[in-house]
Amino acid sequence: MADIIDGRVIARQLDEKTKAQVDEMVAAGLPAPGLAVILVGDDGASQVYVRRKIKACEKVGINSIEHRLPADTSQEHLLAVIDTLNKDKRVHGILCQVPLPEHIDTRLVLRSISPDKDVDGFHPVNVGRLTTGGGGIVPCTPLGVMLLIESVMPDLKGKDVVVIGKSNIVGKPVANLLLDAEATVTVTHIYTENLPDIARKADVIVAAAGAPELVKGWWVKSGAVLIDVGITRIMAEDGKERLVGDIAFDEVQHAAAVTPVPGGVGPMTIACLLSNTVQAARALHGTATDRESLFDDAPDRTMIFRPAIAGDHSLSRG
Ligand code: NAD
Repeated sequence: MADIIDGRVIARQLDEKTKAQVDEMVAAGLPAPGLAVILVGDDGASQVYVRRKIKACEKVGINSIEHRLPADTSQEHLLAVIDTLNKDKRVHGILCQVPLPEHIDTRLVLRSISPDKDVDGFHPVNVGRLTTGGGGIVPCTPLGVMLLIESVMPDLKGKDVVVIGKSNIVGKPVANLLLDAEATVTVTHIYTENLPDIARKADVIVAAAGAPELVKGWWVKSGAVLIDVGITRIMAEDGKERLVGDIAFDEVQHAAAVTPVPGGVGPMTIACLLSNTVQAARALHGTATDRESLFDDAPDRTMIFRPAIAGDHSLSRG
């Protein structure tokens, strides 16, 4: 029977750590970290995500500042809002919920967020720092994936890891973090040939394809660790909707450990967003220490929270 890696429990532990850091900042007379969340338009799913993020902020003591803008907001106005937030000392993290309406250039908007406040870690400066191992804010889902893997396999040195999916927001940053942890990483995608054969050699599989139950039991070697990032809503045979991951959960009981869907990677993404906001605030206030780790008793996770020394731009987050 494979162990279940419970993302809800690990996310809760991370939230406790984040809350303690917020309390520490406030006790030191610093303002509580502030996260600005921008929502343009009335996309239903985006509204749900934003609501969840704001509620999560409240739990750990982060001030959330919500900017709801109508769907016909001009790009210029959105850029002006971001410019104001970039300069606002009460704001330490800025998140612009995507997708944005079609008349807005998403790439331009995301690049206008200050790298120091880019808590999603999507800004090219942060991407560059991630790929060169030189610090920066790490995207939330990949960060969560690393913490889930490390909860059951703290030492990834020399392990064979197969990442399925090469998107900019999941597959590529996960691959970079894994390389930093000295794993041997194979990144695969829709055009990869013999994917089952490649997967079968893996000590760890990170599935981030968005292809329901793609990874079958026979693709998985005994004792492997499986991280399921994918999440798709499907219509089950009983006519009810169901959320499924990229891994055929019922077929992989010979694995060492597997994340469930839901309740695996999902909760970690929000917990990492909160943590990123606090790390950004600490860096901006110059209170971050050189070697941060998420859990006091955790192995070295410096590849996740990079050195952050305010004033020295070569080292600060972003
Ligand atoms: P994407 O569509 O941008 O990228 C998918 C990648 O998977 C591509 O590189 C593609 O080549 C590859 N791929 C697709 N089908 C494949 C197949 N059959 N075989 C091999 N490779 C295949 O998707 P994304 O934004 O990276 O998201 C991937 C999945 O992760 C989605 O289900 C998404 O909902 C989920 N996701 C979850 C969270 C979370 O917080 N839980 C966060 C981000 C994404």
